[in-house]
Order: sequence, then structure tokens, then C-alpha cells
Amino acid sequence: MKFEQINKTPTKIQYIRDLFAKEDELLKEFREKSIKFGRPISIGAEEGKLLQLFIKMNKIKNIIELGTLTGYSALWMAKALPEDGKIYTIEFDPTCINISKENFAKLPSDLRNKIELLEGKALDKLKELEKSPKKPQSGFDMIFIDADKNNYVNYLDWAEKNIKKGGLIVGDNTFLFGAVYSDDLPHRTRPTTKEAMQEFNRRLADSNKFDGVILPTEEGMTVAIKK
Ligand code: SAH
Ligand code: MG
Repeated sequence: MKFEQINKTPTKIQYIRDLFAKEDELLKEFREKSIKFGRPISIGAEEGKLLQLFIKMNKIKNIIELGTLTGYSALWMAKALPEDGKIYTIEFDPTCINISKENFAKLPSDLRNKIELLEGKALDKLKELEKSPKKPQSGFDMIFIDADKNNYVNYLDWAEKNIKKGGLIVGDNTFLFGAVYSDDLPHRTRPTTKEAMQEFNRRLADSNKFDGVILPTEEGMTVAIKK
């Protein structure tokens, strides 16, 4: 099996974007910044809208995000949170941290107050959050995993312990550029990363623990409710 062309937006995705997921000026600016600095890897606008629906459907109040980049996905999610909602977004790359800080500073205060940037390695920050007063007694409402792919299973270990019953676990790019359902390996993807992503999806497919599915977005988005 050959890999699909992923660097061209399919017409049907563009149709959804134009109709249901229009970006305002700030979203546009956040996304364009990531393109300008050579990393056009944020979620699509239609996925931002999808995350907003999850938040509203599940009455999510607090979110952990792994991988801020320039704050694009964080902004989509923050817009859907209630006034007292909070998103903790974790990033370790100094350039991304600087750009995100600049970006968040531009937001109106009601949105800015909902976003807290945690600087450091995701696994370290998660360990801190586990013991922090930021963690609600029953656990966090939602985690959006969108950082280094080979660690997804470790992030899932954390999520199983720290996301509340009925809470959401969402993983982005879970097709791994087609690797998870193909015999080939896409360019620059390691076999160990492919195995890790397959393991991540397999675990979330376990109906004893989760109600889950992979949404066939351009990159694949695994979504699961913790039972
Ligand atoms: N969620 C963003 C895109 C994130 S891209 C959006 O859709 O707008 C992935 C990000 O994860 C990159 O910025 C990268 O620097 C960060 N990252 C990768 N490994 C990480 C780690 N171990 N800890 C924290 N951040 C990490
Ligand atoms: Mg992603």
C-alpha cells in the first residue's frame, strides 16, 4: 500500500473548513506564525471545531494539552471553555514557547485567563500536575495528546490514572502518516514509533476500558471516553 498525498488539503476538508470552521483574525495569525517559522503542523480548522464540540458535548472545564506549538489548537479549545474553564498546555521547545507567549499576550483577557502555558518536557510536567492542586479530585476532564509520537503510550499511562471517569482522551496524528495501517514506513518514521502508535490505538480500542474510535480526519484523531 502506498501513502496518500498528505500535503494537499482535500476538497472535502476545504468545504468543511469554509462552511463550519472559519478562523477569526487571531486564529489566522497563530496558524500563519507556525507556517512562517517552518512548522505548519497545527491541527486543521475543522479539527479545532471538532475539539470545541467535544468540549461542549461533555461539558469539559479543564484540559491538558501536550504540544503547544504556537497556541493554535489551545485557542480553539479555550474559545469553547466556560468562563471558569482552564487549559494547561505543555511545550518544551524554546522557540515555540516564545511565540506562544507572544500570541497568548495578544488575546482578550477572558480568553488569556483560560490558558496556562507550562514550560518543559511533557512527562515532567504531567508528573507535577498529578500532585498539583490544579488537579480536580476526580481527575482532569480531558487530555489532548499532540506532542512526540513515540511517547503517546506513556502519555496514555498517565491519562488512565489522571483523567476522570467519563473524561476524554484525544490523540492527534494517530494514523501516523498512514504507518499504522500499512506495511511500509513513511519517510523518517521509525519502526518503534509505528509500534508505539499502534499500541496507543489498540489500547484505546479496548471496550472494557474505553468507548473509543479513530476519526478519519486527514491525520487521524483517536477519541475515547474513559469508562
Ligand atoms: N497542538 C498544536 C501542534 C503541536 S505540534 C496545534 O495543533 O496547534 C507538536 C509540539 O509538541 C511541538 O511544538 C513540539 O515542540 C512539542 N513537543 C514535542 N515533544 C515534546 C515533549 N516531550 N514535551 C513537550 N513538548 C513537546
Ligand atoms: Mg497534530
